[in-house]
Amino acid sequence: MMPFAEKLPEKINRLSELAHNLWWSWTPEARELFRRLDYPLWRQTQHNPVLMLKILSVDRLQQAVNDAAFVRLYNKVMIKFDREMQNGQSWFSTQYPEFTQKTIAYFSFEFGLHNSLPIYSGGLGILSGDHAKETSDLGLPFVGIGFMYPQGYFRQRVPSHGWQEAVYQQIDMSEAPILPILDETGHEKLISVDLGGRQVYARLWHVQVGRIPLYLLDTDVDENDPWDRELSARLYSGDSEMRIRQEIMLGIGGVRALRALGIHPHVYHMNEGHSAFLLLECIREKVVDGLTFTEAARAVHKQSVFTTHTPVPAGHDAFAFHMIDQYFAGFWEQMGISREHFLNLGGHEENWGMAFNMTILALRLSGQSNAVSKLHGEVSRKMWHEVWPQKRVDEVPITSITNGVHVSSWISSEMSQLYAKYLGPDWSERHDDPTLWEKLADVPAAELWEMHMHLKRKMVGFLREHVRRRWIDGRNDPTQILTGGTLLDPDALTIGFARRFATYKRATLIFRDFERLKRILLDTHRPVQFVFAGKAHPADDPGKRLIQEVYNLAKHSELGGRVAFIEDYNMHMARYLVQGVDLWLNTPRRPREASGTSGMKAALNGIPNLSILDGWWAEGYNGANGWAIGGNVDFNNTEEQDQHDAQSMYQLLEDEIVPLFYGRDRDNIPRGWVDLMRETIRSNAAQFSMRRMIKEYTTQLYIPAINNH
Ligand SMILES: *Cc1c(COP(=O)(O)O)cnc(C)c1O
Repeated sequence: MMPFAEKLPEKINRLSELAHNLWWSWTPEARELFRRLDYPLWRQTQHNPVLMLKILSVDRLQQAVNDAAFVRLYNKVMIKFDREMQNGQSWFSTQYPEFTQKTIAYFSFEFGLHNSLPIYSGGLGILSGDHAKETSDLGLPFVGIGFMYPQGYFRQRVPSHGWQEAVYQQIDMSEAPILPILDETGHEKLISVDLGGRQVYARLWHVQVGRIPLYLLDTDVDENDPWDRELSARLYSGDSEMRIRQEIMLGIGGVRALRALGIHPHVYHMNEGHSAFLLLECIREKVVDGLTFTEAARAVHKQSVFTTHTPVPAGHDAFAFHMIDQYFAGFWEQMGISREHFLNLGGHEENWGMAFNMTILALRLSGQSNAVSKLHGEVSRKMWHEVWPQKRVDEVPITSITNGVHVSSWISSEMSQLYAKYLGPDWSERHDDPTLWEKLADVPAAELWEMHMHLKRKMVGFLREHVRRRWIDGRNDPTQILTGGTLLDPDALTIGFARRFATYKRATLIFRDFERLKRILLDTHRPVQFVFAGKAHPADDPGKRLIQEVYNLAKHSELGGRVAFIEDYNMHMARYLVQGVDLWLNTPRRPREASGTSGMKAALNGIPNLSILDGWWAEGYNGANGWAIGGNVDFNNTEEQDQHDAQSMYQLLEDEIVPLFYGRDRDNIPRGWVDLMRETIRSNAAQFSMRRMIKEYTTQLYIPAINNH
């Protein structure tokens, strides 16, 4: 029985089912339905229908049933829901009718699906979430495996001294779009793995993402010792001991979870190396069934796909051999190999000595590996040449498929309506067709600009409410009211920078020449302002120092409120920012940004990019759809690189960006800028869509793996 079944009136009794399927979150009519159910509550809960249904009184629900327009909308949404949940007409079932029963299992440490399920930290998680949503839209036979972290990722607080504090909150499971998986007797279904001589158990949660299920492991069960219960408590916290235990649980426990659910995938896709232990479990199973190690490894090789995301060597997990001994002694015998052979599978010289490297393991044992942009592909082939020493660097079998974003999740509903008007009401079904976007030429400049200004005002209003809310709740002091965006001017050129505060992303590059920046920001006729947001990893002190630097500048009276730092960046806020600023800034230290995706979200909404030619932008930039900071050059000296990039950025702002934005016609419309917005959408929307990406994963990786079977 679904939660809230007893309190829902008969006429709308499937609302709970709808609230527990994240399909609603990317379907405009379904969002509208929950918005109308109780608008203040919708806002108060940050768009969390499960929580809304929990709070709403029976009387209020009864009122909704008495509203004929609401019931009509409900019926319309449910018809659409039922139609879309059937798989008959989907892209995949039309293209590959013979493969609709071949499951693709996708493992990821984090999934960024919706704010009400805070089990993501940044780009990697958002990508997994978008990946899952698009496989649903395209009808792939797909299942996701991850963790339910009962405390999720941290909430960020930046007090007036500017040093980020991490606040962990227990997620109330009855307020999240998840349901427990029970066995035939009504008890929680449990799986277990051996962790250093002790059985550790995990229960399973089910998240429905449109047509596809996602299963999340959670070790917070009575059967475990207190220490083991904490294993999945938080995302990315703890030492390497915690990390290896989590990775064993995800990789090996994940495979066992699939078996417990009766699922035998034809393809295993590892999103990053965290889950690569799954390869060992798949081999072990086959050896136990009677194959030799070589035969088992060959079979597993055929069905495995690995995506690497990190062009920085230190960003790849590696574990000391004594830890491998502690956790895998006994396991290699079951795989039919010796300790030495086992260690060789992941052996890699780290800067601190030989260790077991998860990326090496994944590259060695998977049949197909890919990077996430063309440039990242080149970097990865160089970086992992040692795995294929007999091949030339350009023959190293790591291909690349550039990332994308799930269009329906990141488009504003306002822009979506504009596209429907000019590109056709079915634009969303055809959005990965580049020719569709040629029709943007028909959108009148005044209309596009009006829409943008509306979204910008909406963002400014959102930021103000964000600060107000936190002040009322006692989480802010008056300084934060100044720094949190309340002084933003909706008419000033507004530049957004929101992402994780990792040092290579160089959030403070723009501040290198303070006097020059001040002149740009404080120009009386052509003011410029910056909106910053983002969290630093709780153990990353240099990252936190960057936040503090930005924060102190936001406080600086000389900058007069033209720099804002917004606390507690998350998916909810990201939507407002990528839909509402004028320009999206990205300043990674090339070539460290594997792809980046926030700029794609901005582009989809007509927001041009000002970015280093790194990751996706090295492919996206065409000379007319935004700006490239620096050039296609590499540096050996980071100081030189920073200086060069900062100069380039100031010059672009002064000579091109500010004049274009403030070049207005008689109706105060910046014609040149609007042309740039059109070109931004036209050239990027289809190419950097998650739909284009999933179709490439399907044809280049998944189908060959299925055919190999
Ligand atoms: C899109 C997104 C990211 C990823 O941004 P990058 O540009 O890839 O760094 C991180 N966090 C949130 C909340 C996002 O929405």
